Amino acid sequence: MHILEIRDLYVALADSQDKPIVNGVTLTIKSGEVHAIMGPNGTGKSTLSKAVAGHPDYAITGGDVLLDGRSILEMEPDERARAGIFLAFQYPSEVPGVSIANFLRAALQARLSEGEDLDATAYYKRLYSKMDMLKIDRKFTSRAVNEGFSGGEKKRCEILQMAMLEPAFALMDETDSGLDIDALKIVAEGVNQLRGPNLGVLLITHYQRLLNHIIPDYVHVMYDGRIVKSGDKDLALELEAKGYDWIKQELAAAS
Ligand code: ADP
Ligand code: MG
Ligand code: MG
Repeated sequence: MHILEIRDLYVALADSQDKPIVNGVTLTIKSGEVHAIMGPNGTGKSTLSKAVAGHPDYAITGGDVLLDGRSILEMEPDERARAGIFLAFQYPSEVPGVSIANFLRAALQARLSEGEDLDATAYYKRLYSKMDMLKIDRKFTSRAVNEGFSGGEKKRCEILQMAMLEPAFALMDETDSGLDIDALKIVAEGVNQLRGPNLGVLLITHYQRLLNHIIPDYVHVMYDGRIVKSGDKDLALELEAKGYDWIKQELAAAS
């Protein structure tokens, strides 16, 4: 059982730290849980996930992030990844000439501690068992990463990467721009296959409809750098029906 605790976190741009983008977010995710963060564009959702992963463009100006009780803020992004925090949907969009199989092997090797080696037999055994689980055709792995990929194929590659790395926590930041229904289903099926007692998921999405396919345990609404409302899957349905304006009105009435 692992626990990821985001405590009263403030995040600003590394090169202009006067105005925070994330304004005091507190959130605890345990193994086995799927948390969704929703919210209008520009409210700091992506910034939150990148800051937790250690993205160099962002500075943590307050609060803490703890993995199993230990602060990760002094850790480099690759150390955080080795510690089990995986930021999905963020790797280079195209890696011409490098097959998925070789790309994933390098990614996996980079996660191992120094001196630890992953021999080819063990690697392919793991790769094929994950592919079978995700129902991915073996031919897929000889394709070059993202070269000529459809949206759905990119997602399939990302999900496979996540499956191979077996992180303790996956931060999945779904882009705001057009995911077609096929790609959406691939993400949903992948997450549903991978979710389980050993994985905690933070799923950031703009789309309520993704949450029709991935039923979250918790839903949080982020607005203006803060989590302003939390609930269960019904909150996502309410947001779909009513949009975000009622949340703004509630906040205005409360202040
Ligand atoms: P969301 O993911 O909720 O749409 P973001 O975290 O991407 O929101 O952005 C929140 C705010 O911070 C936006 O106003 C955005 O323009 C700004 N921002 C985020 N990252 C950067 C960056 N690297 N450079 C400049 N502004 C940024
Ligand atoms: Mg955005
Ligand atoms: Mg975003």
